[in-house]
Order: sequence, then structure tokens, then C-alpha cells
Amino acid sequence: MDDDLLWNDLMNLPADPPVKRDICSLCKRPVVVCFCDQLPSERLNPVCKIVLLQHPAEEKRPLHTATILSLALTSDKFIIFRGTKFPQSKHSGLHAILNSPDTVLVYPTSEAVDLNELPKVTDSSSLRYNLVLIDGTWPQAKTIYNKSKALHSLKQVKISTPRGSEFTIRTQPTDNCLSTLETAAEALAVLENKPTVKHDLLRPLSTMCSFQFSYGAVVHESKECRLKNHTYPKLIGKRLRKLLENTSTDRSYFTEIVENHNLVLNKS
Ligand SMILES: [Zn+2]
Repeated sequence: MDDDLLWNDLMNLPADPPVKRDICSLCKRPVVVCFCDQLPSERLNPVCKIVLLQHPAEEKRPLHTATILSLALTSDKFIIFRGTKFPQSKHSGLHAILNSPDTVLVYPTSEAVDLNELPKVTDSSSLRYNLVLIDGTWPQAKTIYNKSKALHSLKQVKISTPRGSEFTIRTQPTDNCLSTLETAAEALAVLENKPTVKHDLLRPLSTMCSFQFSYGAVVHESKECRLKNHTYPKLIGKRLRKLLENTSTDRSYFTEIVENHNLVLNKS
């Protein structure tokens, strides 16, 4: 009985009031993990425009990288539309962007050409790309693409990078998958031949990642890397297998991983 009373007393104790944390007015993150001093001193004003098609769930993620783009680029060079299908009537202006001959979709479909094959932007040319990116987890991005027929007819480009993502907080499906910010930074730097743009855009990301590590976040290696290191615990599903096969530059390398490590392909 005494135990019951004690338990009731404990249950009825008021909860501690929430601890108030100072929030940065720019990045909306707690000031102790604010990355704003790593943003370019002046907003970058590239020739091309970044057009982000963002899954609604992405906005709520604490580590989404679109915030860095919105704070680092001038407002006319970064446009964001939210939804799970594009375009919709609420997406004012997107229809015209998707119908522009200057618009390309940066998304790795089987028809996508390498970014380096696109004509570069030069001072004398009138090229002004609208670079459309899908922002979400890989399954979300795939669903958005499949549901958005208007994206299918766009010129599609992919980015081949020998290095993996530097954004190691969130697991990327393969070593050469990049976060939205890295993709935008790479595309702008290559098409406008300005490596400094990439450096300026990725500096806050690097700081954000180091905060996460110092606060105890686990380094998420890509599934490809974990397969290589025998640490991927599951059967390889059909979707992952297909993705690895499509994105691996050397098909025999994938086969070798599977065969040498006795991994089981899930055929279902
Ligand atoms: Zn901040």
C-alpha cells in the first residue's frame, strides 16, 4: 500500500518546465549549434536558379540542408515549392519554370546525362539554367518523381562524383549519393565553372556535421559502405540491389561484394 501511495505521489509530481534555449533568428537552430557565421558574408548570386521541390516532411527534419541554400543564395536564385506532386495549382510560377527550355532536372534516372555534358554557362552565353532538385529521403524523392509526370519530360542530369557524401549524418543509399545541398553546390560550381561557390555553400554544412558529431550523433555510413565492411545486417532487398547495380560504376564490383561476403539477395 505504501508503495502504491509513493508511486501515486511520483506520478502526480508536476513535470519540469521546458528549458528555454536561445534560438538563432536566421537558421532557427539553438545558438549553440548555429552555423550562420559560416555562411558567405554576402549572399551568392549565381547565374543559374535552384528550384527545390520539397517533400513536406523534409521541412520538419532538424538536419535538412535546404535552410543553408535559402540563407546562402539571393532570394531570386532559390525558389522552393512544397508538396508530394508537382506542379499543383498552389505552386505559383512552377508551371512556367517546368516549361522553360532552360530547365533541367537533377535526378539520376536511367536517361539522365552526366552534368559535365551540359553546355557551361559563360559570360557571353545567354544560358541561364533552372536546376530543379527533389528534396526528401530517397524513397520520398522517388515517389515524387513517379507522381509528377511533368518532370518526366525535362532534360535530366546526374552528378557522378567519386567521393561519397560529406553529409554523413543521414544514411545515403550509396557512397556517391549526395545531399540536396551538395547536389546544388556541385551543379552550380560545374555549370558556372566556379569552384568557390561549392566551397562557400558547403562550409556551413561541414560545421553543422561537426556539431552533430560533438553532440554524439552516430556516423551513418552509406549502405554500400556498410556492405563493404560486413556491417549491413539485413537481406539486400530488390530495390536496394537495383539501386546499387544502377549506381555502381563497376557492376562486377557489386557482384563481388555480394558473393565474397555471402550476402543473400532477397528476390521477393
Ligand atoms: Zn544561425
